[in-house]
Amino acid sequence: MIKRIFVTEEASKYPYSFEICEKAGIKPEIIPDEEYYRENIESFLKDDITEGKKHLVLTVFKGSFFRKCPGTRGKICCNYYVIDQTTNCPFDCSYCFLQSYLNFRGIRFAVNIDELFAELHNVLKDGRFIRTGTGELSDSLALEPITGFASKLIDFFENYPDAMLELKTKSNNVYSLPDLRDKRAKVVAGWTIAPQKIIDKEERLVASLEERLNASKYAAEKGYLVSFHLDPVIFYPDADKMYLEMLDMVFSTHKKLAWLSMAGFRYEPQLKWYVESRFPESNLLIGEFVKCSDGKFRYLFPERIRFYRKIAEFVSRVSPETPLYFCMEDKNVWDLVFPPDYLSKTRMKILF
Ligand code: SF4
Repeated sequence: MIKRIFVTEEASKYPYSFEICEKAGIKPEIIPDEEYYRENIESFLKDDITEGKKHLVLTVFKGSFFRKCPGTRGKICCNYYVIDQTTNCPFDCSYCFLQSYLNFRGIRFAVNIDELFAELHNVLKDGRFIRTGTGELSDSLALEPITGFASKLIDFFENYPDAMLELKTKSNNVYSLPDLRDKRAKVVAGWTIAPQKIIDKEERLVASLEERLNASKYAAEKGYLVSFHLDPVIFYPDADKMYLEMLDMVFSTHKKLAWLSMAGFRYEPQLKWYVESRFPESNLLIGEFVKCSDGKFRYLFPERIRFYRKIAEFVSRVSPETPLYFCMEDKNVWDLVFPPDYLSKTRMKILF
């Protein structure tokens, strides 16, 4: 996946940079910080997205690593916090919003993780409960075999057992993570999943559905909580049947999940160009879409409600203790899919 590793002069002072290069078996290309911030950004911009995903750029990040997920205008928020340590991802999904969101094509990986830990310590030291994760601007475990970053983060969370760390991935890179059976850290191994037919068409370089499910079984055995995300739900023909069969596989493997989220495919207008030009074989844009209050396009409201009700009915029947929630849907959708007291139920308290 990664073909070249660039290390900024500043990052070259961190031994962690060279640990990563050694594990990857790639000779580091040291680049002056000035050049990195100016000319290299220019040259990466000319790079196409596919090439950029093969470039790992090790940097020192100067901003704030930790922030509340901004959610989206007018939609119900699930109080999630994000850790922005890596930006961009070596996988290549047709629906990925990063294609139009990022203007830097390489994968930026901040090696000054002690500063990240110091920032997190300030947030967590008083025993505050939060749900947080690294999977917002990247895949949490895609680069784990060469960076070992998730393992370091898990070790850090051992000191903060009131918080929950989620590692969200489409890989199966869990086999090198620490065994948590006698540990205090609360870590959720989370998988974004879709029926295999959709994975084959819309996702590249990722683990298969079966590999993800096997990895989730392994993680559960090692003391991890497990979550799944149906995000984005894509309405292929037979989507209802495919998604229900997939959930049947999930709940044959896990009786109860830490949480399950769902969100229909939505896109900002500028993503369309990337999908059409980079993935001509994709079925993503087939269907009717409507522009919603946050400016994003979504499947028609009645179609979403019909689909979500089927999923909600299934989950409440096979795993009533699993909290099921929407990502980026408004109150109307919640009200039409769930019973009136749904959000106040004990099982949902962890999320809202
Ligand atoms: S795995 Fe996530 S971050 Fe990576 S390309 Fe796919 S959607 Fe984007």
